[in-house]
Amino acid sequence: MSTNIPAITLNAGIQMPQLGFGVFQVPDDDAQGAVESALASGYRGIDTAAIYGNETGVGRALASADVAREDVFVTTKLWIEDHGREASRVALEASLERLGLDHVDLYLIHWPTPATDAYLDTWQGFEDLAAAGLTRAIGVSNFLPEHLERVVALGGTVPAVNQIELHPALQNRETVAANTRLGIATEAWSPLAQGAVLKDPAVLAAASTHDVSPAQIVLRWHLQHGNIVIPKSVTPERIAANLDVFGFELDDAEIAQLDALERNGRTGPHPAEFNG
Ligand code: NDP
Repeated sequence: MSTNIPAITLNAGIQMPQLGFGVFQVPDDDAQGAVESALASGYRGIDTAAIYGNETGVGRALASADVAREDVFVTTKLWIEDHGREASRVALEASLERLGLDHVDLYLIHWPTPATDAYLDTWQGFEDLAAAGLTRAIGVSNFLPEHLERVVALGGTVPAVNQIELHPALQNRETVAANTRLGIATEAWSPLAQGAVLKDPAVLAAASTHDVSPAQIVLRWHLQHGNIVIPKSVTPERIAANLDVFGFELDDAEIAQLDALERNGRTGPHPAEFNG
């Protein structure tokens, strides 16, 4: 199936699909089927992480799918205990082994982890990994503006992506503004707030107007804000429907109504406090 997913050009000079598929909380045994379903539906971006324990299943799906490696954008992430310049190489090599790949497209520092404060060393390790061709781009996840400032102050590579919790109930506006100012693409994790925004009246009203599902409205809101999104589902109908968001457009009033759903509705840990 050909896809009509827009691409975002990262500061590393490569293109990333604006809508991809997330596999958090998908057991390894189910990941192959879920990713195969996603690829068959037309997804061309896959977001996993070492800590998800499903890189092997993801790799099996990539190997079995009728899609060329260069047509799929694969992201994985370095877990907290693997911070450090040397440790990051060991961690990525282990992820590549599980994925059955010789490189990923994007490697992210999963959390800044203030307790160890090792992310600057790790970032220099990431630059080594990119130079060695083990990843095409490097980025971060859950970085607050102060973390980004310190990475950029190293004077080397600016992160290509900052993947953060972002949905109508938690819009993380300060971090998004910092990303934009520094030329870092914003990627939204839990873009559907794990379902917590799908019954909001503004979402339901727009869904009724456009004759689409609440999830499709929320994904459309992200896309029109320029966010990269990685909705997760293990339900084949939802996997397909979450990709079918390019045939309608929210108007300014609808966007404003979803913008007004901000309520500090964090679903995951706070990056300033989370140390694993
Ligand atoms: P999402 O916001 O994508 O929501 C997933 C949940 O919503 C699942 O319960 C799923 O159910 C349900 N769902 C999916 N589609 C629909 C639909 N169309 N209608 C109704 N319900 C739906 O949450 P995630 O936390 O999974 O976030 C997405 C991805 O972001 C993760 O998979 C991971 O890749 C990444 N992530 C990164 C983090 C980080 O720290 N960097 C942290 C958390 C997530 P079902 O599967 O049963 O269909």
